[in-house]
Amino acid sequence: MQKVRGILIGRMQPVHNGHMQVINKILDEVDEIIIGIGSAQLSHEQKDPFTAGERIVMMSQALAEAGVDPSRYYIIPMQDINFNAIWPSHVKMMTPPFSIVYSGNPLVKQLFEEEGFEVRQPPLYDRLHLSGTEVRKRILEDGDWQELVPKATCDVIEEINGIRRIKNLSVKEVSEI
Ligand code: NAD
Repeated sequence: MQKVRGILIGRMQPVHNGHMQVINKILDEVDEIIIGIGSAQLSHEQKDPFTAGERIVMMSQALAEAGVDPSRYYIIPMQDINFNAIWPSHVKMMTPPFSIVYSGNPLVKQLFEEEGFEVRQPPLYDRLHLSGTEVRKRILEDGDWQELVPKATCDVIEEINGIRRIKNLSVKEVSEI
């Protein structure tokens, strides 16, 4: 029987518990999930501090920790392109065939709907706290960011000295007078 595949694309800067909950929910609805690591070309920026490779390790280890069967997911880095109208074709070219797009991002939803895909909006889990913005903010302010992310994300951030990276990225250069 043909497998039903769904796709979720996110910047995952960094992978947090909201991503993991939504992936679990999607896995209840499809046979396989494609997890696209979006804006793969970006790193070392305040909003996008982690490389695609680092985000892939966070995600694959978090899925392993959660006991998800590795035969049920693909993790694929996805670079942005300059042309929104053909982005869905770019995504299709880089991924196994899929029929359902999962996203809460209005632009992602619109672009795939216009291409005739079924788009489902998964529920948002504690969006006030479970967002990459909140995790990065707490890291900067020495707050409890660890409670918002899987252990795998903590491990990767520790391994790459990610706290120092995020703090350095927030320092504004002061020009000499
Ligand atoms: P994100 O990491 O903020 O979110 C990823 C997904 O997880 C979203 O669907 C979001 O709804 C869901 N999510 C996040 N927190 C959640 C929570 N607490 N509970 C439940 N679900 C939650 O990433 P994003 O900004 O949506 O990523 C979209 C990606 O698509 C970006 O990399 C963007 O650049 C890319 N994109 C590229 C183009 C182009 O190249 N032209 C066009 C459109 C989008």
